[in-house]
Amino acid sequence: MDLKDAKREINPGDHRNDGSLILGKPLPALHDAEGNEVPESLPPIVDAHVHLFPEVFFRAIWRWFDQFGWPIRYKLKSAEVLEFLLARGLSHIVGLHYAHKPGVARKQNSHMIRLCRKFAQLSGAATVFPGEKDAKKILADGFRDGLCGVKLHSHVQCFDMDSEGMHEIYRVCMEHDKPLVMHVGREPRSPASKCDSYLLCSAAQLEKVIRGYPELKVCVPHLGGDEFKAYQRLIRDYDNLWLDTTMTLAGYMQGFSGPPLEEMRVDRIMYGSDFPQLPYAWDRELKKLSELGLSRESLRLILNQNAIEFFSIKGFQESG
Ligand SMILES: [Zn+2]
Repeated sequence: MDLKDAKREINPGDHRNDGSLILGKPLPALHDAEGNEVPESLPPIVDAHVHLFPEVFFRAIWRWFDQFGWPIRYKLKSAEVLEFLLARGLSHIVGLHYAHKPGVARKQNSHMIRLCRKFAQLSGAATVFPGEKDAKKILADGFRDGLCGVKLHSHVQCFDMDSEGMHEIYRVCMEHDKPLVMHVGREPRSPASKCDSYLLCSAAQLEKVIRGYPELKVCVPHLGGDEFKAYQRLIRDYDNLWLDTTMTLAGYMQGFSGPPLEEMRVDRIMYGSDFPQLPYAWDRELKKLSELGLSRESLRLILNQNAIEFFSIKGFQESG
């Protein structure tokens, strides 16, 4: 068979023989209807996973997503992202970003610090490129200026969880009592990434980290996708691991959903949206969450209490 034909037979969103999702060509936009405000039945909401970057980084990320991931529906700048979500009734937002190469983290962290000073309902995380010169100082300076934790992304930063640069970050987080959010699930895997997430990421490797550093608080986004079952077990067995729900409730990517939330340890799960990097309506997952039949207490934990504790959010106030 001609290679071109072989390529045509692969559809984004399908699964490979090894079970992984294919994200070679962009997935389609959904064009689903969006609400004007958060569903009324839900308790106050902390979105534990919103992306905020300086504009030049946002533009590069949007170009990448449009070409290899999915069409980004909300191409908003950082302040607009915050204004958009707060105007629709979110109570608090955790801002995340990641440095794609050494030397840019300080600029990104300064941007986040400025936003935090402007928006009282924002808690912003620091980032750093694992192993870069001054990594320790970059993070310590960010924490001194009020950043609430660290965000890393293995598919972009291509780090080995067991490298010296990563052990340095684990130690800095513990010394400053700051949590670490790291995308170390294997999906969504893209052939356009510079590294193979199936080689770098696994629940087994993450387990070594949380076992080796029991004082380190870690959150893995996307419920650990695609190793949902393994992560369900890990949050049961380890008190220092949390998961966020980003994109797993949307029913957007085939096979990218976890076990029913009520079967998981709900005091370790945080609602996160991945806004604005979404191909569907901003409130799609909130609506789904409101229809799951979860108890009021479970919803409260998932939608605010767990994030308030994980990120040490001070002075949380319900919106409206
Ligand atoms: Zn994200």
